Amino acid sequence: MKNLVIFGAPGSGKGTQSDLLVQKYGFDHISTGDVLRAEIKAGTELGNTAKQYIDNGQLIPDALMIDILAATYDALPKTQGVIFDGFPRTIPQADALKAMLAERGTAVHAMLELSVPDEMLMERLINRGKTSGRADDNEETIAKRLSVYHAQTAPLVEWYAQEGIHNPVQGYGSLEDINANLCVVIDAL
Ligand code: ATP
Ligand code: MG
Repeated sequence: MKNLVIFGAPGSGKGTQSDLLVQKYGFDHISTGDVLRAEIKAGTELGNTAKQYIDNGQLIPDALMIDILAATYDALPKTQGVIFDGFPRTIPQADALKAMLAERGTAVHAMLELSVPDEMLMERLINRGKTSGRADDNEETIAKRLSVYHAQTAPLVEWYAQEGIHNPVQGYGSLEDINANLCVVIDAL
């Protein structure tokens, strides 16, 4: 069982690389963004709340997000391990994840950071917006998401470095090369 956090700014490729890792290793995958978008699509009360934050480029409040994460995690089969994609996004979320896994007798074994320059992220997300249908993939909201990332999420790099499990990987170039570099880290665990 290997629990991995795949980390990076909006548009850094967390979802794409997670899919490749799921295929190769058989991990379970929790994408909090996907969970929230499914709630929005289903028109649930949680979805309606989440939509107001997401469309505005903001993060969902920690207390709510932590409950959603725990419920999603507990519903998984957890055989090979779990990839956490899009969680944690704040220091309180990282503390909560650590505590939640400790209560269940496990831990995060590696944080994999996809590093990509902001100009590239901006370009990728504007392009994605042309086909994604995501209300948050427009220039104004993307700029807000990047600034929220730098203010609230990027400090987790230092947090995980202190835990001794931060692994930076270049997040641009070919998908195969990025994937191969992630696999080197995972295979060494
Ligand atoms: P990527 O393109 O790398 O997958 P992303 O930033 O486009 O990343 P998602 O992870 O899909 O997006 O998240 C979309 C939105 O959902 C976020 O901008 C935020 O509003 C909300 N969200 C997702 N995860 C969290 C979280 N852990 N805490 C708070 N809000 C979250
Ligand atoms: Mg995603």
